[in-house]
Amino acid sequence: MAKLEARGLTKRFGEVVAAQDVSFRVEEGELLALLGPSGCGKTTVLRMLAGLTPPDRGRVLIAGEDVTPLPPEARGVGLVFQNYALFPHLTVFGNVAYGLRFGRRLPRRERSRNVRKLLELVGLSGYERRRIHELSQGEAQRVALARALAPQPRVLLLDEPLSALDAALRVELRGELRELLKRLSITAVHVTHDQEEAMAIADRVGVMREGRLEQVDRPPELYERPRTPFVASFLGRANLWPGVIVSLSSGEALVEVAGVRIPAKGEAPAPGEEVYVFFRPEHVVIGEGPYEAEVRHAEFLGDRWQVHARFHRLPLLLFAHRALGGKVQFRFREPPRLLRR
Ligand code: ATP
Repeated sequence: MAKLEARGLTKRFGEVVAAQDVSFRVEEGELLALLGPSGCGKTTVLRMLAGLTPPDRGRVLIAGEDVTPLPPEARGVGLVFQNYALFPHLTVFGNVAYGLRFGRRLPRRERSRNVRKLLELVGLSGYERRRIHELSQGEAQRVALARALAPQPRVLLLDEPLSALDAALRVELRGELRELLKRLSITAVHVTHDQEEAMAIADRVGVMREGRLEQVDRPPELYERPRTPFVASFLGRANLWPGVIVSLSSGEALVEVAGVRIPAKGEAPAPGEEVYVFFRPEHVVIGEGPYEAEVRHAEFLGDRWQVHARFHRLPLLLFAHRALGGKVQFRFREPPRLLRR
């Protein structure tokens, strides 16, 4: 049985469909990231899971129990937000102890012990007496996490918990966060618009677009085998060339792209259908091969050059170890994949 399940969650705000028939399951101890551009409905879905926004349609199940009618405090979910939402008038100790109060009432000594244990978990031993304004952003977010974990929630929901932090700290904290959630075997949903963060932190990633969940998969599958052009282009760098299927034979299709016939693989509809040919810059071998491109310009990105080229009239993005110019020959490391248009 899934620890957390969304079944057909739908929410409108006036004309805006913030979430449309969103369904997914999160297994015990699993970390699912919801990823998508601003406004795609990630926060709305998270708020429906938490009980902060009532869905128009659909159900939320926790450990098989339908919690849709229950208020947030009766669901056993912990929440961590981008802006920490810490109480500025309380100390670190007070903020974490507040989290404990939602659970059973504890004797004072046990409460202290629990708070100390939670602070140790998030690497803040000795910070008990600090005031919130005396913390760095990273420390404040750790306190928010300790407070959310205090009542031992059945499910932890995180809404862009790292996005207020500077880039280096974000990368450091996401590693710590994953390590901690895995160590405690916590079932969690993590909302982010940062694709790298989603792939680094989650066991599976669900990509949302305009209120709909387009694909849920493990990061490597999502990256290598996106099922839609949107997922292909939202994660990493993608080349998507429009073409028409010319012929099909045993799993391979011949696609006419800008007047050139290119073999591609994947689920092909029928000959004559319009498709996209999809491949990533790293799937291209430069310097040899049957195809020729014209380089427009190249950007130095530190670990590589990003080369903007043209294949006939189509844009082509390549990675190279040196700046390229003029005409280059290329081939595909393996046949590009087909995506439906
Ligand atoms: P972001 O990353 O920018 O927070 P998001 O993917 O989390 O975006 P949501 O906040 O879920 O997106 O919003 C989805 C859509 O619903 C947006 O168009 C938003 O303007 C709209 N929306 C969200 N909450 C409300 C509300 N309370 N009233 C009206 N419209 C809302």
